[in-house]
Amino acid sequence: MNFKMQGLENVRLRLRNACVDAGREPGSVALLAVAKRHPAEAIRAVHAMEQHSFGENEVREALAKQAELTDLDIVWHFIGRVQSNKTRDIAGHFDWVQSIDRVKILRRLSSQRPSAKQSLNICLQVNIDSEPQKAGLHPDEVGEMARQANQLPGIKLRGLMCIPRATTDTEEARDSFRRTRALYDALRQQGYTLDTLSMGMSGDLELAVSEGSTMVRIGTDIFGPRKLGIERN
Ligand SMILES: *Cc1c(COP(=O)(O)O)cnc(C)c1O
Repeated sequence: MNFKMQGLENVRLRLRNACVDAGREPGSVALLAVAKRHPAEAIRAVHAMEQHSFGENEVREALAKQAELTDLDIVWHFIGRVQSNKTRDIAGHFDWVQSIDRVKILRRLSSQRPSAKQSLNICLQVNIDSEPQKAGLHPDEVGEMARQANQLPGIKLRGLMCIPRATTDTEEARDSFRRTRALYDALRQQGYTLDTLSMGMSGDLELAVSEGSTMVRIGTDIFGPRKLGIERN
């Protein structure tokens, strides 16, 4: 078994154990395989093990790989910073965008989503620890952005995504996940039909699952360290 296959098996096992430990149904947390800076062949190998959802964070890199993988049924998630001049490519070539933090981008994706395709699934990215350099909405802005997202055609608001502050303090990380979960629950209480709380990466998937994540985004622990060779835009 090569590294990627072993990596995927290990991650699946961790995810299953995390669900059991949290008293949650195994299989209740979706796995997104984050393939950024790994080549198309790596995606093909992981897809062969019945992993169908893949995440990318650079448009040009993603489109090049997609062109090599048109024979596969893949659900593509965009998880990187969205530049205005890339929204048409994203609206045309992705199924999800998890990194929405500007209404301008939301409007462009809405109007540029091809009418032949199903609605583009959207998560609002929350800068849950209000870090100055980090993308994402301030927690106070989430309600208004959700309201706007729900009014636009061509897109479907599915939930929230967060990347907590990098820390070795488990309780601090737990608190960030908890506050994101609280925002998510509050929106649902207001009547939004959401089903996606995207939180947890290679280093903290167990913690995220214990705090209610419904989707973890795993790169390194599936694919190994990221290659630098792929050109970035
Ligand atoms: C790269 C990335 C991940 C995956 O991170 P790993 O630590 O490699 O698992 C998850 N989410 C986002 C938004 C990313 O950019």
